[in-house]
Amino acid sequence: MSKLLEVKDLKTSFFTHVGEVKSVRGISFSLEKGEALGIVGESGCGKSVTMMSIMRLLQENGKITGGEVDFDGKNITKFNEKEMEKIRGNEMGMIFQDPMTSLNPVFTVGQQLTEHYIKHKKVSKAEADKKAIEMLNLVGIPSPEKRMKQYPHEFSGGMRQRVMIAMALICEPKLLIADEPTTALDVTIQAQILELMKKLKDELGTSIILITHDLGVVADVCSKINVMYGGLIVETGDVREIFYNPRHPYTWGLLGSVPNPKKLLKEKLTPIEGQPPDLLNPPAGCPFAARCKYAMKVCLENQPPLMEIGENHRAACWLNHPNAPKVESPIKKGE
Ligand code: SF4
Repeated sequence: MSKLLEVKDLKTSFFTHVGEVKSVRGISFSLEKGEALGIVGESGCGKSVTMMSIMRLLQENGKITGGEVDFDGKNITKFNEKEMEKIRGNEMGMIFQDPMTSLNPVFTVGQQLTEHYIKHKKVSKAEADKKAIEMLNLVGIPSPEKRMKQYPHEFSGGMRQRVMIAMALICEPKLLIADEPTTALDVTIQAQILELMKKLKDELGTSIILITHDLGVVADVCSKINVMYGGLIVETGDVREIFYNPRHPYTWGLLGSVPNPKKLLKEKLTPIEGQPPDLLNPPAGCPFAARCKYAMKVCLENQPPLMEIGENHRAACWLNHPNAPKVESPIKKGE
């Protein structure tokens, strides 16, 4: 596999009337072609801002203040808006939580799919119609010819999300970024959409970044996970490692909320109490210290670096330092 995306020490801030909110504080990760990565964390941890920074869709007061994003060998942080427009929706597709905010209610689904395809691929209307029907078929929408003539409100929530996936994939992007794509859907539809994303990754070789607050959602689709907290990546590793050998207390807390935690946990975990850090004045030490029952003096003073746990597994917690006291993980070891 070769690298499709490389994020190097990315920093993004929002400039508000009360000061600079440092939402992403220096994160680095990469994604291979055909690979699926999950970015997990509570709201406000910086996961969606990371995606918006990559796509360069930040609100007006948001700015990338440091680092670089390389996409398919090009440093796109240097691209102007016109160059980015060519990439967005073409080489990079996106799916958001609420498809109604991304679909235009006054145009039929067919019109929206074909116009998007014609804009990026400069093909004829007939070719675009054919491609749109093929995509609706691929994402499991029955009678696609008939559905092309219908408006978004005539589709159920799950079907609308499928239309969004069809829209995101019609130009055969190299990268699909999905931000909480299933949060608004009920559990059965959620499973179907995730299954569909997995199928598309396997069949089309699309790389995927799946952003979610729910660790359970990434398990089936992704092979790698970044856990974010306080604008930083606090743990990163292969899915198996994160589920069966997590080494950060915040990840332990997140695992307590997966659908079947009994399989993973030795004991019932209490929900993580307290609030995420104020990123107007980020703490000098570990961002999780105020909520962590294992916090030590060093945690308050020094930000822990990502420490090597094993091959493809790193965690930013002082408990992994050789001189740290031994703390037993509440997670059962995977067999
Ligand atoms: Fe807790 Fe310290 Fe580890 Fe942070 S570095 S998660 S405060 S033990």
